[in-house]
Amino acid sequence: MTFIEQFEQELVKKLQGSEDAASIVRWAAEKVLESYRNGITAIQKELAALGIVGNLSKKPLPLSSIGNFLRNPFYCGVFLHKGEMHQGIHAPMISKKTFDEIQTALVTIGKPRKKRGDKGFLFLNFATCGTCGHCITGERHTKKSGRRYHYYRCTHKNKQPHSDDRSLIREEQFAEEVKRNAALVGIPDDWKERFLAKIELWQNDDSQARQRHVDRIKSELTALKSKIDRLNTAFTEGGLELSEFKELKNPLIVQKAVLEQQLAKAEKGGASPIELLKNLVLEANQAEKWVSSENWLEMKSFLQKVGLNRLVRSQTLTVSFKKPWNLLAETTVAAQRAASESERNSIWWTYRESNPGFVNANDA
Ligand SMILES: [Zn+2]
Repeated sequence: MTFIEQFEQELVKKLQGSEDAASIVRWAAEKVLESYRNGITAIQKELAALGIVGNLSKKPLPLSSIGNFLRNPFYCGVFLHKGEMHQGIHAPMISKKTFDEIQTALVTIGKPRKKRGDKGFLFLNFATCGTCGHCITGERHTKKSGRRYHYYRCTHKNKQPHSDDRSLIREEQFAEEVKRNAALVGIPDDWKERFLAKIELWQNDDSQARQRHVDRIKSELTALKSKIDRLNTAFTEGGLELSEFKELKNPLIVQKAVLEQQLAKAEKGGASPIELLKNLVLEANQAEKWVSSENWLEMKSFLQKVGLNRLVRSQTLTVSFKKPWNLLAETTVAAQRAASESERNSIWWTYRESNPGFVNANDA
């Protein structure tokens, strides 16, 4: 008998203390595979019910030792010696396949439960109470049926009477409200395309207008410079007194400095309002996609970004949108109320016109 075989026999003796060991292993394996959702605790209970308890403590076997027991490859006919796997000569109690399945099941069992903490609330730290301005927090309620519901409500307690039950709102309703608000600042695909096509035209107008603006400043500067030159000539030729010369020339020098600054600014450009409008259309289209895919986290952070505040009152979430999102929201509301497709379309086109920040930018 080799040393390894001897080692195995010792293992067999140690682990197979009772003649039932093999049947216990098989039973436990079946149990794990058939209802691993119940976890090792279910196996622990059943083992205890069968009288299989700790030798000394007489208490149910610790979960860790049940886990170790099920992870021991010895039962499928192999064993570890100094980290090396050996094929045993003892009869396997379970197949290698079953063993592998148990390992997979154990990994699933071992997965940590859903983290507590935010308890699965989607919209914490998001809105405030429309009545008193305090934070809206999440709360769990269990109905008599045992079904659990998530609610949101004002954290302000008993200090000021709330006409609407401390802004209590069910999570489903809250989610609908988040969706409704995000949709107000969303632009659907077809309108994104139409806007972008139009924006391209506007961009051409934009650069032409910018060029005209630059040309205008340049010609004003040229006229101003020749005026200054004429004054200089008149003065050197003795046609002007020094005081007269200063009085005439000084304002022109100031004017020249102003024009030169304007020219530098006009040539440099800066963030074009048309460019801003384009970004807005793209962002609004992305928002629309989050709405249709019900991406709550993205909708939430988007509304935090484009909203000044988010108030809950009487089962309703109201977002005050920042500029220029407020105009987009107003346009969307008007378009939703439109009686016909053509009316809706003409409302959409007014969006840019109702948006002074984006119009006549180069005349500024
Ligand atoms: Zn309140």
